[in-house]
Amino acid sequence: MPQGRLVLYVGTMFGGKSHALLFHAGIHGYGKLVKAFVPKADTRSEAGAITTHSGVTFPAVEVETSHDIYEFLRYLPEIAGRKVDIVLIDEAHMFDGDLINVVLHLLERGIDVVCGGLTIDFEGNPFEVVTHLMAFADQIEVYRATCKRCGGARAKYHKRLIEDDRRIVPGGEGVYEPQCYQCFHEIGDGETR
Ligand SMILES: [Zn+2]
Repeated sequence: MPQGRLVLYVGTMFGGKSHALLFHAGIHGYGKLVKAFVPKADTRSEAGAITTHSGVTFPAVEVETSHDIYEFLRYLPEIAGRKVDIVLIDEAHMFDGDLINVVLHLLERGIDVVCGGLTIDFEGNPFEVVTHLMAFADQIEVYRATCKRCGGARAKYHKRLIEDDRRIVPGGEGVYEPQCYQCFHEIGDGETR
């Protein structure tokens, strides 16, 4: 059986990752069975759905851990007599490190896996689970946002606007702000080029 394809839509908050994920499902999922998963930790999203900032939603199974994705598909390899062709996983950075093993297992079974997720946490450090997925990806699309401070197009970082030291704190506008390197580190006048 040929290995499934691993496609990643990663980058900064407000950069259009979830939109790209659903666009992929719309284009490549035609005539195929698509199953989507989101972490329960993502309280920002509508329960049981991948939600874009523009309000588009796609039904998704909420799971506590990455192993739950494995368990779900292990006991439900077919839905209504059809094999699952594509698995979508949004907010991959919120999952535990075992996600990579689950994804590799799905690929071995010939299932295409398409993940969305943040590359960098609120302190400016890489999200390891996402960088590990990148090592095995067939295709990686990187989405960057517009810097809220200077208007530059290369906002790789997102500043947390509330006091909270936990690494995973779900939130949208008002909780996070996309910023470029210069503005995030408060050095100079931004990166408008
Ligand atoms: Zn900036």
